[in-house]
Amino acid sequence: MEEIKEERPLNFIEKIIEDDLKNGRVPNNEIVTRFPPEPNGYLHIGHIKSICINFGLAQKYGGRCHLRLDDTNPAKEETEYIDSIKEDIKWLGFDWGKYEYYASDYYDQLYEIAVRLIKEGKAYVDSLSAEEMKEYRGTLTEPGKNSPDRDRPIEENLRLFEEMREGKYPEGAYTLRAKIDMASPNINMRDPALYRIKYATHPRTGDKWCIYPMYDFTHPISDAIEGITHSICTLEFEDHRPAYDWATSIDGIEHTPHQYEFARLNINYLLMSKRKLLYLVNNNFVTGWDDPRMPTVSGIRRRGYSPESMKDFVSRVGVAKVEGVVDYSLMEFCVREDLNKRAKRLMAVLDPVLVIIDNYPEGKVEYFEAENNPEDENSGVHKVAFSKNIFIEREDFMENPVKGYHRLYIGNEIRLKHAYYITATSVDKDEDGKIIAVHATYDPESKGGTTADGRKVRGTSHWVSKDHALVAEVRQYDKLFKAENPGAQTGNYLDDLNPDSLIVIEKAYIEEEAANAKVGDYLQFIRNGYYCVDSKDSRPEHMVFNRTCTLKDSWAKQKAKMGL
Ligand code: ATP
Ligand code: MG
Repeated sequence: MEEIKEERPLNFIEKIIEDDLKNGRVPNNEIVTRFPPEPNGYLHIGHIKSICINFGLAQKYGGRCHLRLDDTNPAKEETEYIDSIKEDIKWLGFDWGKYEYYASDYYDQLYEIAVRLIKEGKAYVDSLSAEEMKEYRGTLTEPGKNSPDRDRPIEENLRLFEEMREGKYPEGAYTLRAKIDMASPNINMRDPALYRIKYATHPRTGDKWCIYPMYDFTHPISDAIEGITHSICTLEFEDHRPAYDWATSIDGIEHTPHQYEFARLNINYLLMSKRKLLYLVNNNFVTGWDDPRMPTVSGIRRRGYSPESMKDFVSRVGVAKVEGVVDYSLMEFCVREDLNKRAKRLMAVLDPVLVIIDNYPEGKVEYFEAENNPEDENSGVHKVAFSKNIFIEREDFMENPVKGYHRLYIGNEIRLKHAYYITATSVDKDEDGKIIAVHATYDPESKGGTTADGRKVRGTSHWVSKDHALVAEVRQYDKLFKAENPGAQTGNYLDDLNPDSLIVIEKAYIEEEAANAKVGDYLQFIRNGYYCVDSKDSRPEHMVFNRTCTLKDSWAKQKAKMGL
């Protein structure tokens, strides 16, 4: 049989790579990319795009992708973040193998390069304060002014830089700057800072350094040292490309990588800035970086998203150079597509009303076979217990049915999924008029959901036997923000927090089979949505299930249309 392969056109980066390969511009014909997160927070969905591009290109062209922790800002970085970054990349199914690097590995080399630049008259120690530097820098329309220190003699620069490193000066007293061009139309080329003084203990280098190299100096040189061929980053770095090219053409740097920029991933309803996410964590708007409402990789993992669905999602979004906002519903569509194929179907009643089947023998229990997944013929079956007292969803019964309602009401017959046909006969109410039980009769001939006379019913309800139910906690998650663009109206994204982003159902009734579910299993509670076992709080004696996402519900739509 011929293999049918879906051909997608090459994206612009693939075109560049194929052209470079064809024209012998790639050393050893080996594509080397890197994913360079700054370990100052957890990875988010935006990073998934970058990970898929970088690791994906290396896979496609038989090269390699480095994991480089870009740890040049000791004040904000923690080992916890490094561990989470690694776990997240692995969860997505990518592997950097032995190519694990840290920008801090290059501190010695970067220092030597800086000294060399000073000796060659290409860098100087500046005593301007941060405010003064800003003033001297000029604007987009006006050129900058040379610092009075720009022509400091080389010997003095060398001594001051050495003393900066020795810790003789307070933070902000001096900066090492590249001597490029204060009149450059590109502000990033107006004598960019190379080193600043910072007294902070670094997670890896400890207190060895009190001067730290800047991003625009560190990143390109790290790329060059590692032999990166294609350094792929997001569009906001486009203006930094001349600084990148300046650094990689410093004398003595042998390999010349090139930088390419693509549009970052933005999704409506989501915030994807580590700074804002950290704020939500630190101020307890969520329970942590891995709160299932967070757009972090650890959050969506705990929420029950599959890595395959997220890879599908970013591949549908594609790689382009134009910024845009992707619809949240596309992401959920991809999640549903994947989970539909793999989620185990179970019956769970989240808002129960008791149904007493009056003509069913007291104490009798029958076991029906339930398919695990109708989309997967190899998924097998499990048993589900049936008895006289069952729960159905409260919304599956209506005392006074509205037009178009095909579920249970007095006199109406419905099918119980996997079991019998039942007809409601009467209701019991408490003093407040609330229905506490629905009485029904079943047709013993309708076992398995069909009858001898072949009569049809329009409604099918899921149900759980009262005496056989697993009683568990269910966490109904929804979007964390209720506005498409959080903060657009008032300027404060906190104003758009969704107060109903988590509704806890303390006692849901789920068929017994659910007790076998483990962390990482994908589940569908029939007609309710996709669910998973919470990885943090679920215990055998108190199971907790998280709603991953809802199913599309035609009745909900119809209800909304009818204004109910
Ligand atoms: P944030 O702005 O969310 O704090 P960042 O860009 O500071 O993120 P880094 O850790 O520096 O985060 O990012 C690592 C890599 O991931 C970089 O190459 C960056 O360009 C890329 N990246 C970050 N956010 C996105 C996004 N939304 N879409 C695609 N790539 C992204
Ligand atoms: Mg950053």
